This record gives sequence, C-alpha cells and structure tokens, in this order.
Amino acid sequence: MKQYIREDEWNIIEDGFDPQLNRISESIFSIGNGMMGQRANFEETYSGETLQGNYIAGIYYPDKTRVGWWKNGYPEYFAKILNAANWIGLEIRVGEEILDLAKCKVTKFRRTLHMREGYLERSFEAEFASGKKLSVNAKRFYSIERDEIGALRYEIKSLNFSETVFVRSYLDGDIKNEDSNYDEKFWEEETCELYNDSAMLILRTRKSNFQVATAIKTQMVCEGVELDGFNKVREKKYAAHETSIQLKEGSSLVITKFAANLSSENHNPEKLAENSMRMVRLAAEAGFEALLKEQADAWKVKWDQNDMVIEGDVSAQQAIRFNIFQLNQTYTGKDPRLNIGPKGFTGEKYGGLTYWDTEAYCVPFYLATAPQEVSRNLLIYRYRHLQKAIENGAKLGFHDGAALYPMVTINGEECHNEWEITFEEIHRNGAIAYAIFNYVRYTGDTAYLGDYGLEVLVAISRFWAQRVNFSTANGKYMILGVTGPNEYENNVNNNWYTNTIAAWCLKYTRQVAETVQAETPGKYADLAQRISLSNDEMTQWNGIAENMHFPECPELGIFLQQDGYLDKEQIPVKDLDPKHRPLNQKWSWDRILRSCYIKQADVLQGLYFFEDDYDNETLQRNFDFYEARTVHESSLSPCIHSILASRLNDEKRAYEFYLRTARLDLDDYNNDTEDGLHITSMAGTWMSLTEGFAGMKVSKDILIFNPFLPEKWTSYSFSLTFRNAALNVKIGREAVSITNRSDKDVNIKVYDTVYNLAAGSTVQAEYHLKI
Ligand code: BGC
Repeated sequence: MKQYIREDEWNIIEDGFDPQLNRISESIFSIGNGMMGQRANFEETYSGETLQGNYIAGIYYPDKTRVGWWKNGYPEYFAKILNAANWIGLEIRVGEEILDLAKCKVTKFRRTLHMREGYLERSFEAEFASGKKLSVNAKRFYSIERDEIGALRYEIKSLNFSETVFVRSYLDGDIKNEDSNYDEKFWEEETCELYNDSAMLILRTRKSNFQVATAIKTQMVCEGVELDGFNKVREKKYAAHETSIQLKEGSSLVITKFAANLSSENHNPEKLAENSMRMVRLAAEAGFEALLKEQADAWKVKWDQNDMVIEGDVSAQQAIRFNIFQLNQTYTGKDPRLNIGPKGFTGEKYGGLTYWDTEAYCVPFYLATAPQEVSRNLLIYRYRHLQKAIENGAKLGFHDGAALYPMVTINGEECHNEWEITFEEIHRNGAIAYAIFNYVRYTGDTAYLGDYGLEVLVAISRFWAQRVNFSTANGKYMILGVTGPNEYENNVNNNWYTNTIAAWCLKYTRQVAETVQAETPGKYADLAQRISLSNDEMTQWNGIAENMHFPECPELGIFLQQDGYLDKEQIPVKDLDPKHRPLNQKWSWDRILRSCYIKQADVLQGLYFFEDDYDNETLQRNFDFYEARTVHESSLSPCIHSILASRLNDEKRAYEFYLRTARLDLDDYNNDTEDGLHITSMAGTWMSLTEGFAGMKVSKDILIFNPFLPEKWTSYSFSLTFRNAALNVKIGREAVSITNRSDKDVNIKVYDTVYNLAAGSTVQAEYHLKI
C-alpha cells in the first residue's frame, strides 16, 4: 500500500517525482474516452521504468497460446488489445542535452488528473547536468465529444538559458506489447504520408488484419510566432517533424499536437487515410483551447448524470469520483461490439478482454448512471456472441444449442487457457443470465426478453441441463468438477454458488418464456420454433432445479461452498501469520488449494445476488463464517462484502470494505496498480455506496432505499436514472431526500414507505438507523 496521492475533492494529484512510483502513476493518471485510452506516459523521452500504453477499443491481435501442457479444448490464441501507435512523442534537446526525467534533476513535479474537466496535466522543472533549467507544463486528453481525437499542449520555458532547443514531434508505430507471448511485434506498416506539419501512418495488425490510421498535426509557437519549415523524418513505421530554435531566457516554446485515430472497424479501409487527415485538420482548426472547453462541457453532462458527493470526508469523495471517472473513460456504450476489460485501457493485463466482471459488477453501474441503451448494449454484446458460445459448448461436447459463454473473450471465442478456469469456471454463464434479469428488473424493458434475452437464456439453460448429472446415490442433481468465483479451489463438486445460479437460471428461463408468450405470442411462437423450444424441455429444467443438490451444514446453519469444504483445516484469516500474505505470492498453488482460504466472495456472491430469498440470520451466519476465511485477493471481493455488511447493519465493516475498494488503486492497496487500474471493481465501489450504504434495490417496479450514513460523513448524495426518471438522492443526518428532476413520475420506497414521486417533486423522510 502506498499513500502518495494528495487528497482533493475533484483532482488526483501527485506532488514530487519518484521514479519508483512512475508505473503506478502511469496507470492512475490514465485518460480515455471509451474508444481509446492511454497510460499517463511522458511525452518527452524517458529512459526510466515505464509501461508504454495506448489502446484503441476493439483492435486486437490473436497471440498464439503459450502453455506448458496442451489440453484438448484449449483455444488457439489469447486475444490482446494492442498497444497502438504512440502519437504523443516529443524528443527535446537543449544544446546537446536531452530532456529525460530519469537523467535530469527534477526540482518540481506535479501530475494532476482534472476529473471535472477530463484532462491530464503535468508540470515540472528540470535541471540538466550543465545547470540549464527549464520548466514544462503539459496538458493532454482524449476527447469525449470527438471519439477519435486526442490533443496535447506542451509548453517549455527556459528558466536560465538562451540556447538552441531541438524538438522532434513524432508518430511511432514500431510498438510492442510487453506481454507478447513470443516477443513478436503485432503491427505492420501499410502506408505512411508525411506533409509539412502533419503525418499519417496506417498500420495493419498481423493475423487479425485490422487497420488503424493515426494522423497527427504539430504546431509550434515561440514568442507569438508560429514556426514552420519543419524538417521531415521518415523511417519504417515512423514519421516525425523536427526543428531547432533559439530559446531565450524567460521565453517559451508551445508545442500543440493533435491526433486522429481511426480504425477499419469504423471506417472503410480505403477511406482511412483521407478521413484521418480530415479529422485531424478539423481538430486543429477548432484549436486546443476550444477542444478543451468542449471536453469540460461534455464532462459536465456526465457528472450531472452520475456524480456522487460525499460531505465530510475528502478522501472518500476523491475516491468515488476517481472510480466514476475511470468507468466513464472506459465504456460509453455507443457500440455494442465493445465491452469493458478488467483493466480498461490502463494496462495490458487481462488483454483488454471481457470477463464475467461486466455482467456481475459493471451492469448495475451503467444501468443507473447512463441512458438505457448503454447497459442494453452490454447485453447485446453477449447476444451477438450467442452462436460462438454454442460452438464453444459444442467443442466441449455439449449439443442441441447449449451455450457455454467464454470466460475471457473479445469476439465471442474463448481465449482463456487454464483448464480449471476455461472448462470449469462455468458460473460465468449464470452471471450473463443474471444481467438480463437485472436489466429488465431495473428498466422494465420486457421487450428485450422477446427480442434477445430469451434466446440467450434458453441456450444457457440447455447448457446447465446437460452439465448436471443425476446422482442415484443421493437422488439429486449434481454439478461436478467446477471452479466457483473463489479461484483458490479447483475441480470441486457442487459449488453452492454455481448450483444456485444454475437452478435459478433454469427456473427464470421458464418464467421469461411465459412472459414473452403472454406479451408477444407471435414472437414467442417464431422463436420457439426456430430454436425448438418446447414446454417439455422447460418442465425437465424445472425438475432439475427442484432437485438440485445444495451443500449445507445444518449444525452451523450455513451453505457449504462445495461438498467437503468443512474437511479442510479451518483456521480463520485473523489467525494466519501476516507474513504469509498475500497467499498468491507466498504460497505454492497446491497449498492454497488445500487450504480453507477464499479469494473472493463465493457463497456470499450468491447471497448478494439472491438476497431476497434469505432471511437476515442466514445472511449473517454465512457472512460471519465466510468472511473470516476470505483473503480478498481479488479486487472484486471487498465491494460484495461491503454491500452485505450494509445489509446486515454492520456499518463499521461496511465502511472498512468500502474504503478498501474505493481507494484500491489510488493507494495501490494490492501492490499491482502498476499493471493497470481495476476498472471492473470500480463499478463494485459504486455499488457499495448505492446498493450498500444507500440500501438501493429494485423490487416489483419500485426503487427502494434503506440507507445509512457512515459516522464520519455529514451527508452523501448521488444522481441516477431509474425508468427514464432522473433522480437526486441525498442522505443526511436529518433527512433522506429524493428529488425527481425529470418529467416522469416514478415509484420509490424510503425505509418502509412507498411514494409516488411526481415529476419535479421531492420526497423527504426522516433519517433513522435501519431497522
Ligand atoms: C478474479 C475473477 C475476475 C478476473 C478479472 C480474477 O482475479 O478471480 O473473478 O474475473 O480477475 O477481473
């Protein structure tokens, strides 16, 4: 854990330059706009520790799988969102000395992520070995308003010299992924054009053949005079403009650089050159200041939709805004082909691909904070992959339209290649079904079910119906050989969570079929015929769900994570010598597997999803038992625990877990922020506050709040959208007030009173502790 980020309500600030922290800061200060994203790498040369990263959504390379022991059914490749052309590059020399913060003396340094306005700023003073000093102020952003545009402004001021300053502004496509399996480069040059102050490079990805055009335009102004006559440099996958000027003491050189990144996913490949040059020209014509203003305006709209205000705790305030900011930078929901990688665009880990994280953690965030089509697009993403999921199922021996969605994917094909996860972590199918339920429960959009949802649910239910086996010895259905959410157990029998979500899914699919049949009989009949769905099949599913085996221990009054879990040596985490932690770094894998320790919510994940099915005593017993054995070595863990602790009125623990999830990256809690941010768990942070502290949930078309206010806070408030009504929720010491800012009435419940919240009106309830 490192606490070097300065507390501030709206900004993320790093004061002073510590090269040891640079890779962490590069992650934290990342910028993005849903279509592209970039680590906070320096524009100028940097020979110290860095992870270069600039990513374009949807552009991947199928990197040939590398495993020690090949197993039938493994995918051929692991897709990776590629590190794309570096357009920010500047090489700066003063006399013969190169500006490189790893080599200069850095006397002042501040990096700021301006979350309200959506840009990154860095200022520093550096002294060369010769004693010459300069200061730099650099601003950079990816435009929210113009999906394909990035811009930077870099101002160099001479503090004590008059000297020739050499500047090279470059576009470098000779880029690698640090995690390349065979140390290959993934890009080939297609075309390059070089003009007076602009350049355009089209790169093509090997194997996957995506094309990405990056056009840049560089402007330099010194003492009010625009420089021209740049020298042009052209190398393979590389183009640059350079110039030298005499910089006088006290005067400044301002470099502005615009970039347009266009991909063949969104443009006709024949038009990439022309379109990218046009886009970059338009951006330059608008000018840096105007684009920055446009950016702040666009962020204002976003913040209006989803800000959270915490009064009385700057650290918590900063953290929640940081989480919301990064989620908005990662996914905007404009394109159903895109999804949310666990690290977003902030690092290479997890390949920028889609995991169950999206459905289990991110969907609730986008449901409440963005227009309905955003979360709908997340669902459609899986609908589009349905045939591939059926093929994936077939590859593993399932048939007749049974779908096993991949654990990790970009295009619907499985990319993961560890048997215990690829083949066994099948609960992901359940999360995809649950997201459909969640979406419809929240939005009321039952039409989705007939159009898309039911077809996905049927294919998933077919998988469950084939994956179970009937144990004659026990007279129950079993699901053998699985890995639950707790990846510190593999190949277990009857993981309670998996069996629970499978049984729920089998029943829910039938319920949905009935809804679709009642609401749109014609549509239902067509679909049933197309996918050969019969009542008999659904009756059989019901039989399985009714007779599923759910392991439990009646003496302790708990569900068992899996058959035989209690045979393990039971030593709670508090009695484990801290020197053994984190277990995944200190223990051998077999020792972890034999232990009782739990990586992340497993039984508790199920209790969180299906909370209404269990009484508080059951929740409490399971929470106490399993939390005591959980090491929270997945970033997805603390948020679920925080929400459940809130449900159980355990304010103290709810708050502790909240802090842990909220500042996970800002404080580098797990010592791995340098790999990238934990984007998907950021949605979990948001859930801890809304579903946890504010006790928000939807039941029978009503949005319910059962809030508590952490002791340290004066109040907290947030904006959200429910059934197209924009609401403001404020929880203060005296009152809970909810304002309907829209022109649509909506039903809400605060504590145990139901209100019809008319358009434009406010409801106030006296704040009290939960009963
Ligand atoms: C967790 C998984 C998660 C993945 C990506 C793993 O550490 O155990 O549940 O899907 O990270 O976030």
